[in-house]
Amino acid sequence: MKEKKRTGWLEKNGNDDRGPGTGSDPGEGEKKIRIPEGLWIKCNHCRQIVYRKEVDRSGKVCPKCNYHFPITLDERLEQLADPGTFEEFAAEVVSSDPLHFSDSQRYVDRLRSAQKKTGLDDAIRVGECSIMSIPSVLGVFSFHFMGGSMGSVVGEKVVRAADKALEKRRPLILVTASGGARMQEGIFSLMQMARTSAAVGSLKKAGLPYLTVLTDPTFGGVTASFAMLGDVIIAEPRALIGFAGPRVIEQTIRQQLPEGFQRAEFLLEHGFVDMIVARKHLKETLGQLLCHLGARRNSGTLCQGSQTG
Ligand SMILES: [Zn+2]
Repeated sequence: MKEKKRTGWLEKNGNDDRGPGTGSDPGEGEKKIRIPEGLWIKCNHCRQIVYRKEVDRSGKVCPKCNYHFPITLDERLEQLADPGTFEEFAAEVVSSDPLHFSDSQRYVDRLRSAQKKTGLDDAIRVGECSIMSIPSVLGVFSFHFMGGSMGSVVGEKVVRAADKALEKRRPLILVTASGGARMQEGIFSLMQMARTSAAVGSLKKAGLPYLTVLTDPTFGGVTASFAMLGDVIIAEPRALIGFAGPRVIEQTIRQQLPEGFQRAEFLLEHGFVDMIVARKHLKETLGQLLCHLGARRNSGTLCQGSQTG
C-alpha cells in the first residue's frame, strides 16, 4: 500500500495508510494548515479545524459536518458492548508469514511493528458480549492495524466468530474498517473471502441474525465478502465504502464519477446499504434490530420492539 498524505489527527492517533479510495474527498483543498499539537484537529471531510474536546465529547464526530472520525477498536467495543461483558476468544490465532513476503520491509517486521503500535495481535478482535442485554458475538476491525487488511488471521477469526454464534445460537455483529485483502499474504488472503462468506452463510441457514456495520473506510475484499452479506447492512454517516478506489474506477471506465460516489449516503440511495446510523444511536439500533430479528435477552425471553435495556 503506498504512502498517502496524512492529517494531523490521523498521525497523532497512529493511523495507518488510509487505503484505496480514501483521501480523495471532493473539494480537497490541499492547503497546508499548521495545527497546534493536540488541541485542534482537522476534519477529514469538511477540512475545517475543530476543537478536539468537542469532537471527543460527541463520540469522535465532527461538530461542523457530522463526519464520523475513525475510532480505535477499544473505543468501539466500549461504545457497543454492555460494560464489562466483552470476552475475547480466538486471541491465540496469530499471523504467520506463509509466503516469506518482503517488499520495502519484511512482512514479519511489518506485523511486529503494527502489533507494537496498536497493542493488537491483528486487525480484528472477536468475542462474546451483551449488546443492550442481548447475548451476542461481536467482531470489530481496527483500521489502525495495517489498514484493517484481511489476512488469514482476520479470516479465521471471522469464521470462528460465526462458528461461536452457531454453537451458542447467538446473533453475530461485525464492524468493519478495512482497506481490503492483505496483499502480503497473496492468495491466502483472497481465500478468506470465500471462507468468511461461507461461514456467515451458515448463520442464515440456522436462522440466526447477522448484522454488519460498515465504517469509514471499508474496501476491497472485505466489502466483496462478508461485509455486504449482513441481513441488515448499516453504515456510519459519510463512510467511504467500495471495492476499488474511485481513481482506479475512473481510469478503467474512462468516465467521471458522480458527486459523493462511494459515500454511505450515495450507497443508501442506490440500495447498497440498508441504513445509515449515527454513532451515538448505533448500540440502541443494533439492540432494536436484534429484537426484531428474534434474538433473545439474557433472561432467555424474546425481546419486544424497542424496549431495550
Ligand atoms: Zn467536518
